[in-house]
Amino acid sequence: MTLRAVLARTTLVVLFCVALAMCVSCTPAYNEYTEYRAVLPSAASAVTAPSPEGHVVEAADDSATTSPLDLPAPLKADPAGYGFDPAAAIRHAGAIAAFGPRPGGSVAERQAAQYVTARLRQLGYTPQTQEFALPNGLSSVNVIALAPGRDGTRRLLLGAHLDSKPPSPGANDNASGCGLLLELARILVNHPPPVDVELVFWGCEEFLPQGVDSHHLGSRHHAKGLSDDERARLVGAVSIDMVGVGSQFHVRTMERGPQSLRRMLLLDARADGVGLSFLKDRGRTGWSDHEPYELRGIPAVWLQWQKDPNYHTVRDTADRLQVRPMRTTGELLLRFIHGLDEARIDALDNGR
Ligand SMILES: [Zn+2]
Repeated sequence: MTLRAVLARTTLVVLFCVALAMCVSCTPAYNEYTEYRAVLPSAASAVTAPSPEGHVVEAADDSATTSPLDLPAPLKADPAGYGFDPAAAIRHAGAIAAFGPRPGGSVAERQAAQYVTARLRQLGYTPQTQEFALPNGLSSVNVIALAPGRDGTRRLLLGAHLDSKPPSPGANDNASGCGLLLELARILVNHPPPVDVELVFWGCEEFLPQGVDSHHLGSRHHAKGLSDDERARLVGAVSIDMVGVGSQFHVRTMERGPQSLRRMLLLDARADGVGLSFLKDRGRTGWSDHEPYELRGIPAVWLQWQKDPNYHTVRDTADRLQVRPMRTTGELLLRFIHGLDEARIDALDNGR
């Protein structure tokens, strides 16, 4: 054999081996694709049918763990393109949880307040702090920032509490709500809302051992400080509290104040194919920071996911936070905020 013939034969063998390797590496992908095609057609046709409101809904991405017939309520994936990033929200939550247990008035609670203040400044906000005294002799703060709306006459309040219940580092309760709110703050810079959005990071939501009924102290201080004019300008108040763990999404109230915001969010969620159900706070007081706003006659709700098996324990850590509840909550809120036209504001007001 000549040298040229040897080279030609070697090249052929190499080409054959490369082709064979490519074939082998493609096979699993092909199988996954055909399995996907084999499983989904009936489910896909069922879940992409327009809802009565005319929205097209898409399958949720957890089909791997459920049969097609058991698919949970499907969720549209960010149809308006706001770009809500649940991973960024979770990173903020991790940074806040890393300060450790954050009881009202503690150094760690203050560090969490400084963290959100610094992030808000980076985004171009001018955050204010509102200091208030606690029954344990210490003081706590609310951090407040305003995302200006196109119509500066009305205002929506979105809030999350900074503190946690010792010994819990409070990644879900409630660094998750703070992280989500920071991610909303980022998006509202690029997508100015129709109305002003007031972002409030409340201090001291959890019970203190001192005092009677000593919880929701930051939100009570803030709600009490609203003038009649400020109260009238508020179209609603949302407490974002425990939104990082769970499979059941609830909108909660005490049923003591206007219920128009609760009803609107339930309708919005249904139109978007998001499973959201109402849960009433048991007992005399509310269970989150919506309480003082609801009692002042403002349409107010609490958004919460259940159930967190690590609630108020040392195991409430950032590594347990889940993308799905964070994304679902963030995207629902963004659609709600940007849908606030005059008709919907009237509907919220009429519930008062
Ligand atoms: Zn909480």
